[in-house]
Amino acid sequence: MDAKAPITQDVMTIPRKMPDGPMNLIGLSRDQLRDALIGAGTPEKQAKMRASQVWQWVYHWGVRDFAEMTNLAKDYRAMLAENFVLELPEVVTRQVSEDGTRKYLCRIAGGHEVEVVYIPETDRGTLCISSQVGCTLTCSFCHTGTQKLVRNLTAGEIIGQVMLARDDLDEWPKPGTRTDESRLLSNIVLMGMGEPLYNFENVRDAMKIAMDPHGIQLSRRRITLSTSGVVPEIARTAEEIGCQLAVSFHATTDDVRNTLVPINKRWNIETLLEALRAYPKVSNSERITFEYVMLDGINDSDDDARRLIKLIDGIPAKINLIPFNEWPGAPYKRSSNNRIRAFADIIYNAGYASPVRRPRGEDIMAACGQLKSATERARKSRAQIAADAGL
Ligand code: SAH
Ligand code: SF4
Repeated sequence: MDAKAPITQDVMTIPRKMPDGPMNLIGLSRDQLRDALIGAGTPEKQAKMRASQVWQWVYHWGVRDFAEMTNLAKDYRAMLAENFVLELPEVVTRQVSEDGTRKYLCRIAGGHEVEVVYIPETDRGTLCISSQVGCTLTCSFCHTGTQKLVRNLTAGEIIGQVMLARDDLDEWPKPGTRTDESRLLSNIVLMGMGEPLYNFENVRDAMKIAMDPHGIQLSRRRITLSTSGVVPEIARTAEEIGCQLAVSFHATTDDVRNTLVPINKRWNIETLLEALRAYPKVSNSERITFEYVMLDGINDSDDDARRLIKLIDGIPAKINLIPFNEWPGAPYKRSSNNRIRAFADIIYNAGYASPVRRPRGEDIMAACGQLKSATERARKSRAQIAADAGL
């Protein structure tokens, strides 16, 4: 007997089980879902159809129990339950602010935690989600930047944040009803923890699920990805996702931007603007949002406002002024209200809408852009209390 044969045979006959239990189907693309079903024994000829059925149950109806997938044969449902799970990040705490803002603290595999924030407004409801635990970039005003990157979120963990919020808002359509046009969760912003363009594939796959017409069905115009300026991935975002883009601009000279957003040393303002100019055409999106954090005495002068207008000339833009959200030990202070108003006036007079982002959910510290920091602080102080008590 050929000595190699049994080894080959062994490999061939190893059942396609995941090493650590059943496979989670949440976050798989349509093709990956089909392959997973084939791997579990679905005949290839039927696999596309079965994948579409499962997909619709999961992403249109929000069903998590295979037994409820009533257009599939009973045996097939049992086979699914044996091989697969449908798991979202686990909600550890849920807080509702006086202004209706909801904040969820969620646990993901490995025990890491991410925060998800839902902000209701009169004409929309926006969900702020995270793409990484921590961030490798070190923007000097951002609390996330002081944390070590722990890891990228999977596509399932990213779309899972949207799904758990829909669960909590009780917003999955009821069988037999039409999809409501006025949704509670109508918009997504990737403005939580992490740099989405450093986790491109997972973010893309998750947003493709969010936009899929046979599922959650959010328009790409209602999804905004915020980047610190990862220039090579900006063109890819236009081509492969096509969502709205926001950019953490924050400064009008390379010197200042180098200290605030250090990725500027790699791709400077001019290079970034070039990529931004190309974005609306390729993605067929409307306007780019320029985020600008107002830091006292650093980037908030009248000259800064005028330089900003000059720099973005010719780019369809909206400027989002963000009063700095101070955190303990932060090296900056928030600009005064008068300064922010004067800055906003210059921008407004140049013809730009310049909404000042109102801090929302302040009673539960839900400000996007510094998610989880409050929890970490709370934990630190608890640890401090324990240390003080000699525990
Ligand atoms: N990493 C991405 C997205 C997450 S941050 C990015 O940098 O764009 C979302 C927004 O919140 C960014 O514009 C970020 O610069 C801003 N931000 C971070 N920390 C902040 C703080 N302490 N106060 C105000 N805005 C902050
Ligand atoms: Fe990362 Fe964005 Fe914070 Fe910069 S502002 S450290 S890119 S999360």
